[in-house]
Amino acid sequence: MDSFGAGMGEGPILGAVETGGTKIICAVGDIDGRITDRMTIPTDVPDVSVPKILEFFSDKDIDAIGIGAFGPIDVIPESENYGSIRKCERRGWSHYPLLRTICDGLGVPGDMDTDVNTACLGEYRYGAGKGAEVLLYITVGTGIGIGITIDGRPLHGMMHPEGGHVAAVRHPDDRFEGTCPFHGGCIEGLACGPAIKGRWGAEGKDLEDRPEVWEMEAHYLSQLVRNCMMTVAPNRIVMGGGVMQQTRLFPMIRQRVREQVNGYMDCPETSDMENYIVPSALGGDQALLGGFVLAHSALRGKGGIR
Ligand code: ADP
Ligand code: ZN
Repeated sequence: MDSFGAGMGEGPILGAVETGGTKIICAVGDIDGRITDRMTIPTDVPDVSVPKILEFFSDKDIDAIGIGAFGPIDVIPESENYGSIRKCERRGWSHYPLLRTICDGLGVPGDMDTDVNTACLGEYRYGAGKGAEVLLYITVGTGIGIGITIDGRPLHGMMHPEGGHVAAVRHPDDRFEGTCPFHGGCIEGLACGPAIKGRWGAEGKDLEDRPEVWEMEAHYLSQLVRNCMMTVAPNRIVMGGGVMQQTRLFPMIRQRVREQVNGYMDCPETSDMENYIVPSALGGDQALLGGFVLAHSALRGKGGIR
């Protein structure tokens, strides 16, 4: 993906930031999806992390910035807190005005969305979601999140979707209480990476030879996919995040979804499951690339702040 030394085109120089629970990634690139420079730092309190972000971009001459942030965040354009983190458990980040601080610090326009909406935007423009009018992106990692774009526009209503927290029908053999502090055994609480570790006592990557782990994982993830299909009827579903590196999950999820939907949504898309539920095509860079799209729109005055 990176093209160091290839030289930038004529277009604007764009910045992207992805804030995650464990790390923050900053990147410089362009609207053609080239990443020319990047930096990764551990996620700390904002007073430590944000100055490092500003310092990274200080000599990059970017024209605009796009941020994909962990939620919950304020995405309501009319809100005076647009681009702020909402009340959250993460130390120091509650109500932090992330977008405003970074745009003011760098003197550029910018926009911000959730990490998953931004990843969805990246997949729509550059990756496995090209051409999908309604695109759904699901990440299965430290948490479970969904992003939705409609014709390349991230979906928000009163806030952004929080589809990882939908209710789950328990696997008959599952006695694990779930990790979600709000709902216990919601889909995230039962199927995120830490839930796998909590239930089975080891990281997912060290459970490769335990078929029952992946059978249970597919049981929960197929419910999420099915519920999202029935709710938003996406034209394609892209799945990414650390847990989905277990690519065996894809055929298992497709098969269970096919069984659960039971012919009810009979569309050209669902008749070709291999091209309907697909892995991310951007190797972990989807949110950064989506950040370039947000930055580019903000530069043209379409959304965001200046
Ligand atoms: P984050 O969600 O924090 O942005 P990731 O998407 O990388 O980060 O997800 C991290 C989670 O994915 C961890 O719980 C980790 O155990 C799990 N994970 C990472 N690699 C694998 C793998 N190869 N197989 C199964 N689980 C994995
Ligand atoms: Zn929950």
